[in-house]
Amino acid sequence: MNPDPAAVDTAVVGGGILGLATAWRLLSDRPGSRVVVLEKEKAVAHHQSGRNSNVLHAGVYYRPGSLKARTCREGKRRMEEFLAAEGLPWRRCGKLIVATAPEELPRLAELERRAAANGVEVRPLGAEELREREPAAAGIRALEVPESGITDYGAVCRRLAQRIAAAGGEVRLGVRVRRIEERRGAVRIATTAGDLEARLLVNCAGLHSDRVAARVGLRPAARIVPFRGEFFELTPAARARAGLERLLYPVPDPAFPFLGVHLTPTVTGGLHCGPNAVPALAREGYSWARVSPVDLAGTLTWPGTWRLARRFWRTGWGEVRRSLSRRAFARALARLLPGTTAADLVPAPAGVRAQALGRDGALIDDFLIQSTARTVHVLNAPSPAATAAFAIAARVAAAVAERRAG
Ligand SMILES: Cc1cc2nc3c(=O)[nH]c(=O)nc-3n(C[C@H](O)[C@H](O)[C@H](O)COP(=O)(O)OP(=O)(O)OC[C@H]3O[C@@H](n4cnc5c(N)ncnc54)[C@H](O)[C@@H]3O)c2cc1C
Repeated sequence: MNPDPAAVDTAVVGGGILGLATAWRLLSDRPGSRVVVLEKEKAVAHHQSGRNSNVLHAGVYYRPGSLKARTCREGKRRMEEFLAAEGLPWRRCGKLIVATAPEELPRLAELERRAAANGVEVRPLGAEELREREPAAAGIRALEVPESGITDYGAVCRRLAQRIAAAGGEVRLGVRVRRIEERRGAVRIATTAGDLEARLLVNCAGLHSDRVAARVGLRPAARIVPFRGEFFELTPAARARAGLERLLYPVPDPAFPFLGVHLTPTVTGGLHCGPNAVPALAREGYSWARVSPVDLAGTLTWPGTWRLARRFWRTGWGEVRRSLSRRAFARALARLLPGTTAADLVPAPAGVRAQALGRDGALIDDFLIQSTARTVHVLNAPSPAATAAFAIAARVAAAVAERRAG
């Protein structure tokens, strides 16, 4: 399969947006080097990168100074440049984060402070101004984020794969990495399509990133616990009634890393609703029917799972109810968009978030990258990692360069 296996400079596990952005960055930094992406599915962006909200996040929510805050700003700028240069679909439609009850106002004020600290321009709006922007929306106050946008991250991934091939790299599809052995001068990789040797390895395996890391003896302090996000599409009639131009978000619960069900105009003219956040019974569990005993045992034997469940059982139960009842899902949306009913919702494909969960039950909030002598691992890359992909890739490529020099 590979005529000169020793010539592979860097093998990247995972053909999602992070693996592809990293491979492309490595090729841009060292033209002519041999970079190979190994992806177990038959197409790129089969998991998180092709099953998300497709929002270009401006960087309002993240703790100032965190890797998320810094890479989101930088990554969004780079992503917009890429989208414009490549002629891919995107739009700065703006976002409204809407408080619907007085108890949400302190949290909205905190978001305004965070936005200022992160260098994101926001405008506080009263109820009247909110309705001037979006007549169908309800709320008592809102924060307008003019630079938030939408795109199609699946299309970004497909274009990156083309660019990688054009730059002399390879994206090998249908190749699952089974074992990795880190040796003194190289990394030996056993795959379903034979063995190969590379000088360095990057792990961008998303939902399986902790397992890939464990294969080189790295014991991440957190385990990936899969959280499914279910989506609906608004029917054309409901969409026309809503007439939404901007993204419409609730005020999130700061203790929970998910943003709450929201409404997202899509680049193809649709109106996406969701995602909720329910425990998935398999790492690639896109419905309740998809159960993996191995994955489930991995989740249930992790002490952090039970600690998390004790803290969040009430929030979690609300999310499960919204998963089992379309009417409950519609009620959550109706707080933002009054009049929304179950009849307005058509099921759309779900996504599963790779969320790292600490032993102590803490959901790891920030992006997490760890390395060994010859390998670099992205171990927590939830939202806004698609927005931030090019900035994360720059950091991963810098870690690879250090290892090559070392
Ligand atoms: C419901 C949902 C909504 C989201 N909304 C947004 C949003 O609006 N904006 C935003 O910025 N971010 C959003 N995100 C987050 C974003 O989608 C992810 O952070 C991003 O896609 C992560 O990319 P990745 O490359 O790390 O993972 P993935 O896209 O999951 O890619 C990992 C790849 O590794 C492959 N792989 C795994 N194991 C192996 C192996 N052993 N051998 C070979 N290949 C392997 C998998 O098949 C997969 O293709 C959302 C995520 C979800 C789930």
